[in-house]
Amino acid sequence: MSKKVYDCIIVGAGPAGLGAALYAARDRFDTLLLEKFYPGGQIMNTELIENYPGVPNVGGADLVSKLYSQVEAFGPEIKMSAEVVSLEKLSDGNIKVSTTQDEYLARVVILSPGSSYRQLGVPGEREFRNAGAGVSYCGTCDAPFFKGKKVLAVGGGNTAIEEALHLAKFAEQVTLVHRRDEFRATKILQEEFFKKMQEEDSNLNVIYNTVLEAIEGDGKVERAVLKNVKTGDLEDFQCDGVFIFVGMVPNTQFLKGLVDLTESGFIKCDSAYLRTAIPGVFAAGDCRVGAAMQLVTAVADGSLAAIMMKQYLLDSNWWYESLSDALNPSEWRPN
Ligand SMILES: Cc1cc2nc3c(=O)[nH]c(=O)nc-3n(C[C@H](O)[C@H](O)[C@H](O)COP(=O)(O)OP(=O)(O)OC[C@H]3O[C@@H](n4cnc5c(N)ncnc54)[C@H](O)[C@@H]3O)c2cc1C
Repeated sequence: MSKKVYDCIIVGAGPAGLGAALYAARDRFDTLLLEKFYPGGQIMNTELIENYPGVPNVGGADLVSKLYSQVEAFGPEIKMSAEVVSLEKLSDGNIKVSTTQDEYLARVVILSPGSSYRQLGVPGEREFRNAGAGVSYCGTCDAPFFKGKKVLAVGGGNTAIEEALHLAKFAEQVTLVHRRDEFRATKILQEEFFKKMQEEDSNLNVIYNTVLEAIEGDGKVERAVLKNVKTGDLEDFQCDGVFIFVGMVPNTQFLKGLVDLTESGFIKCDSAYLRTAIPGVFAAGDCRVGAAMQLVTAVADGSLAAIMMKQYLLDSNWWYESLSDALNPSEWRPN
């Protein structure tokens, strides 16, 4: 382990980590950014972003490339293929961050490991898990592989509806399977979906009250086994691909027992300043409790954590200060 103590180590170079690195490095803090794979996080796979303020209609990779260059220009140290496996608060107040290859020390750590696709765990899901074989979690990334093919999509939230609409631009037929009798997605998305479904030449269908039981085929997906949750009836559904859109799980397994996590694995922190239970350790982006799971909020979280880091470095007792009434919802009452 090198004896150098960084002002700040950021875990994960998605939008939250890059936002944090931009603010920390620009403020001349000695900053190290550690990333498991390559920069960008989930947004890298997004074809078109329409809701990032000031940058309309931009591709994910394009936006990340601009953000990454902007960060790099302020000179933080950046290490790729550096998966963080644990952290430890030392008796001198510094924090030890261990990766699969090395160990580093910092006065502050900003955790921004984001989240990943939730899996159903049904037979065949793992076996056929890549767009070539037919199972995918990202319509935006893999829809073009299913041009003129028949696909099944699973889910009922915003992502499922958005992605089913996107798939319908490529596939011959898209059937959305949902375990309940109505979707959870926002009304505006549902309206768009049903409008498209009612068009004369529509290639969209819905099957309600149904779950995916198994994915089968010889080397690639050929059919899905569906179960009606009301009748228990099983049905073989012929298809070339299965898209699973059933939510995200935070990438926080490596923090179990080290940082306080919710039951579903989100990092517990205060929503105003993003402080975790460990002094000097902040949480930012999709990994934290109450995250809005958006690009703009992830970047904002990262920059907020980097700003609040200054407060902690000036006075470590600030960590224990409770929120002012105005920032504490349980204390706050409208006039
Ligand atoms: C298909 C899709 C489309 C989307 N479209 C939009 C959109 O149009 N608009 C919008 O606002 N939002 C969109 N989002 C959501 C947006 O991408 C996320 O909210 C945002 O990326 C969250 O940023 P993050 O930095 O918190 O996490 P992530 O983007 O998940 O990044 C986390 C990073 O941390 C790294 N990491 C994880 N564990 C470790 C570890 N142990 N050590 C080191 N590094 C680690 C990961 O490799 C990753 O690079 C979309 C998401 C998806 C999946």
